[in-house]
Parts: sequence; structure tokens; C-alpha cells
Amino acid sequence: MYAPPGMPDPSPPAWQNPAFVALHCFACETPHDRHGLQTVCRACGLPLRVDYDHARAPLAPAALVGRPASLWRYREVLPIQPAHAVSLVEGFTPLCEVADRLFVKDESRNPTGSFKARGLVMAVAMARVLGAKALSAPSAGNAAGALAAYGAAARLPVVVAMPEDTPRAFVDECRHYGAEVQLVPGTIADAGRWLREHGPRDTFDVSTLKEPYRIEGKKTMAYELWEQLAGELPDVVIYPTGGGTGLVGMWKAFAEIRALGWRLPRVPRLVSVQMAGCAPVARGFAEGAAVTTAWADPQTRVWGLRVPSPIGGFLCLRAVRETGGTALTVTEDEAASATSRLAARTGLDICPEGGATFAAFEALRQAGAITARETVVLFNTGTGLKYR
Ligand SMILES: *Cc1c(COP(=O)(O)O)cnc(C)c1O
Repeated sequence: MYAPPGMPDPSPPAWQNPAFVALHCFACETPHDRHGLQTVCRACGLPLRVDYDHARAPLAPAALVGRPASLWRYREVLPIQPAHAVSLVEGFTPLCEVADRLFVKDESRNPTGSFKARGLVMAVAMARVLGAKALSAPSAGNAAGALAAYGAAARLPVVVAMPEDTPRAFVDECRHYGAEVQLVPGTIADAGRWLREHGPRDTFDVSTLKEPYRIEGKKTMAYELWEQLAGELPDVVIYPTGGGTGLVGMWKAFAEIRALGWRLPRVPRLVSVQMAGCAPVARGFAEGAAVTTAWADPQTRVWGLRVPSPIGGFLCLRAVRETGGTALTVTEDEAASATSRLAARTGLDICPEGGATFAAFEALRQAGAITARETVVLFNTGTGLKYR
């Protein structure tokens, strides 16, 4: 069932969306076989991109009416047919207006309480149809919980490695779903190293942007914003950036939405928020660099953002620059205060990463970089309850 990359299939496998026509490297464009398990580009080691020929499975907004309230409503722009995936009903989270023109996209409502469910449902489904027998990933917490849950649903064994200072609830959650958990001194980068050096040999690694499909699940956040704002995308989207899957995914989705021919007067300015103690993307942006470099001594208790060397850092920089956005940092105190104030003011279950977006919003409003007239979406990427 092999078709040369970039060529349409004479008869695509039953699991495949017929519009999924190619896999290319995001950086060097080397093509890869989409019918095999892929990690990163074999030529340059950077992430792979899923390409669609929308003519093979067109999607018009009118077709969405009456479809399921999950990310599977966008099946024409996902790699796998819904019937071949294992879903826990992820995505299509509420967009809550918390003040005039200020919205919170509340990702805490996903299975396992974070938007990691969007990426992992896709990665696990693809790994399963392509023949993986076991799965692994390093994680700052939420990715591990989501992987454990989807691995359980797909009946695939899961091994996760997490920093040893990860709050207990994340560890308990993984064990609850039957995953094997290894706690490692250091950060997510050290957890990744532990898996490569000591992890079981026969597991497929679903780390952020080290396989091509998590981004495909995460990008659905942009399609949802389009639908929920009735075709009027916001002026600004503020995103707490760790690995950058969602940021890069939304940037990819904006291009797809345009290619699908949907109304898209302007693309939102993408704002990447990081913590002052671990900010490779914000530093790369400030320096005008094309790529991010590793952050030497990452220090933050906002665990989802403690990612010192994101493999997709160059894509985060592109997404921010091409949309006319920005990248900035907030301090631990600013994020903590913003988290409590936003939760107390809205009743939403705000996590520290979500609070960081509110702190960034306040700073950008203060500086005049966002005006009172503009529509802004903050991402509350997970539940606050696992951090205690
Ligand atoms: C993983 C995570 C992030 C960072 O997401 P990326 O798409 O990897 O940048 C932000 N917030 C929470 C709660 C997370 O779990």
C-alpha cells in the first residue's frame, strides 16, 4: 500500500482521510511515507508536516451543522477517519466571554482535563493504525495523563517519564489509567533523555512534534474559534507556549482555512507567553533569531511551560512573526496573581498556564499593544486542580 509521497493514492487505506496526500519536513521539505510510523525528518531531524489536498475532501462551514460536538466534526482536515480512532469525545470546548471582547477558550473541559487530549487522541490513533505496539513520552504532566488515558482506550501499554517534582495528581492520574510512570530528576528534557537511554526499546515515542499527528489534533482549536465567533476570528490569540504544538497548529490551521475557501478577512496575531525563568521562544523573538536555543537553567513552577529546548521553536517564531504577533514573558508572581484573579472573577477552573495568558493580556493592554476595541482569546489550557 505504498504510494510515493506527494502522489495521490490509487486506493488509500481504509483508515486514511483521502485528502491526506503527503508528509513533508517543515524545515527542509523532504517527503516521507505517510503509511509508515514516522518520527522526525530523516534528513534534518526536524518536525514533519501533514499536507492535504482539500479538493479530495472539501469542507464547507455549512456542512458542520449537526455534526458531533468534538474535534471529529472536522474530519476532512484530520489524517484519520473517525471510525478508526479511539475517542473520549475531545475538543469543541466552550469559548466563554469573561469581559467585553475578552474570551477564554476553556480547555480544562477536555478528557483528562487539558488540551493535551486533542493531540494525544490523534497521535495514539495514528500510531495504532500504523502498527505501534506500545507508547511512551516524556511529559511535564498533562501529556502523560492524556497519553495514559488514550493508551488505555486503545489497549496499548504506555510508559511515561516525568520530572520528579511534578505534582502528585499528575502521577496518580497516569497510574489510574494503568501506565508505567518513571520520575526523573530535572526537567522534561531530562525525562526525554531517560526514556531514550533507559526506556523500553519497543515503544513508539509520541513526544511533542517528534511525531507528525499531535499538531493535527491541536490545530482544531483554530477551527473552533472560527465557528464559535461566527467566522470572525479574534484580533489576538494569547497562548502559553511550552512545546508550541497548539501555537504552530493554529498557524497551520489558518492557512488551511484560507485554502478551504472559508471567510478569513484577517489572521489573528498570535502571542506566545512564556515564564521569565524558561523562555526560549520569547528570547529568540526578542533577538530576531530564526531558531530557538536551549534555556540553560529552566526555573518555573508553571510546569506546562518548563520546556527548555522545544524542537519546534523555529516554527513558534515563524507563527508569531508571520501573524504580526509577539512573544513575551511573565514572572511567577504575575502569573500566580493573574490565575487567582481570573478564576475568582469568572468561576472558570484556571490553571497557572492559563493565568499566564491573562497576565500577558494585562501587560499588553497596559502597553497599548492591544486596544480596548480588539477581540482577544486567552487559552486556559487545562484544569487548575492537578497542581496542588
Ligand atoms: C502542555 C501544556 C502547555 C504547553 O502547550 P504546548 O502546545 O506544548 O506549547 C500549556 N498549558 C498546559 C496546561 C499544558 O499542559
